Amino acid sequence: MKNNGGTKKKAPKFKIDRHGWLRQYTGYTSSGFNIPTASTQQTRCHNLAKKSKLAPLRHVLSPNFSERPLGLKPTLLVIHYISLPPDQFGGPYIEQLFTNRLNPTEHPFFEEIKDLRVSAHFLVRRNGQIVQFVSTEKMAFHAGQSDFFGRGPCNPYSIGIELEGNGTTAFEDIQYDRLALLTNALKLRYGLTAVRGHEHIAPGRKQDPGPFFDWQRYAKAAGWTKRQQP
Ligand SMILES: [Zn+2]
Repeated sequence: MKNNGGTKKKAPKFKIDRHGWLRQYTGYTSSGFNIPTASTQQTRCHNLAKKSKLAPLRHVLSPNFSERPLGLKPTLLVIHYISLPPDQFGGPYIEQLFTNRLNPTEHPFFEEIKDLRVSAHFLVRRNGQIVQFVSTEKMAFHAGQSDFFGRGPCNPYSIGIELEGNGTTAFEDIQYDRLALLTNALKLRYGLTAVRGHEHIAPGRKQDPGPFFDWQRYAKAAGWTKRQQP
């Protein structure tokens, strides 16, 4: 497994707070959790260490969300991949897309997608950093036209996680690690009963997370039973 910065680091601990925001448990303060402030600040770094160190968690607020109908709680987890421009990793463009700040002149593909109003609750970057865009109490715009066992479009009753990736590249070890930690935090907070890929709820239309996503590995790490996974 790769590690960041050459020193063996303990895995971060996460929990979803009552407002639907992922919090990193630092273990250093008596209250145990960073105080929720995400609603008043565009971006917040939760790492107390130097700026040069990678924060395990950031909050970047997306305007692309709405209330869940009738206080519906999420029961389905949907896994996606995304890369912008397609097949390029590491740029700021996914965050820009989810916050409606993509500059269409920077890449021909951006011109095509500049008017999309999309989001996901979470993005797990290639380096393992988790970015949260939408409270899990709210509905993110990640699934589009979709269906799960005849319930209709999945956004109202699902949580969407994007992995930075594509259909031709293996995902990073740390992405599996952080995805499992995130999933466990979500399962602790919500009665999630199933996980699917975007390709399963929108067959023919979507291909993500695709053939390079190792469902067995993920399901084992995150404790999904056979019946709960695709
Ligand atoms: Zn997708």
